[in-house]
Amino acid sequence: MPEGSGSGRALILFGPPGSGKGTQARLIRECLGVPHISTGDMLRERMQAGDPLGMVIKRLLDEGELVTDELVNQMVEERISKPDCRKGFILDGYPRTLSQAGTICRQLADRGTGWLVVHLKVDYNEIIRRLADRRSCAQCAAVYNLASHPPKVAGVCDRCGNRLSIRDDDRESVVRKRLEAYDERTRPLLEFFSGGVGSFCEMNGAGDAPALIARRICEMMRSGKSGCSLACSN
Ligand code: ADP
Ligand code: ZN
Repeated sequence: MPEGSGSGRALILFGPPGSGKGTQARLIRECLGVPHISTGDMLRERMQAGDPLGMVIKRLLDEGELVTDELVNQMVEERISKPDCRKGFILDGYPRTLSQAGTICRQLADRGTGWLVVHLKVDYNEIIRRLADRRSCAQCAAVYNLASHPPKVAGVCDRCGNRLSIRDDDRESVVRKRLEAYDERTRPLLEFFSGGVGSFCEMNGAGDAPALIARRICEMMRSGKSGCSLACSN
């Protein structure tokens, strides 16, 4: 079933915070023409409502903790049942726990959607550097990097003109907590995914230009194979 027979193919971008999942998802969305589903973006949007649930989400995000499986599972289930996901979709930041992985794999199997998991491998020091240089636009969710992808005008979003900011959870003490959460709760999924459930590929998420990495992933998605021999850099 994982190669996909019924409805489209899902791409699961997997990796630590700062490994480039969001950047890749935005590039790949253009070439595959399927929606980009970022649970982080959805949660930040939900948080802005300022209601009790929004405040709970904000507290967890600000502390670098994960939001409950129940909430994210429900958000994703609703989103992928929309018609624009029929041809496939890109998951960015989900699943992040074994329970989330079990839930999504069951749903994908039920609807006949195949999947490819790409693990973007990036070393710890590079992650710390990238997150320290990351600036985001709270208005349109655009993401910049002071070193590798600066805005045209310092401090201003190219797309919407809003002032750029540092995400609260990109501050150093929170980054440490997020990396801990990744190590404890998310990294174990590698064993789950590499153990033969669906297609799995590891790629070096640093070194090559983001556009080149994206092109390799798109080729794998289009070829419908696991593609590791085709595009994996290790
Ligand atoms: P990054 O991948 O750089 O950590 P995201 O924008 O994907 O950033 O996520 C930001 C925060 O949102 C996470 O630290 C976590 O608190 C929450 N979050 C996002 N996705 C999930 C998920 N699938 N399960 C639980 N919490 C999540
Ligand atoms: Zn913007």
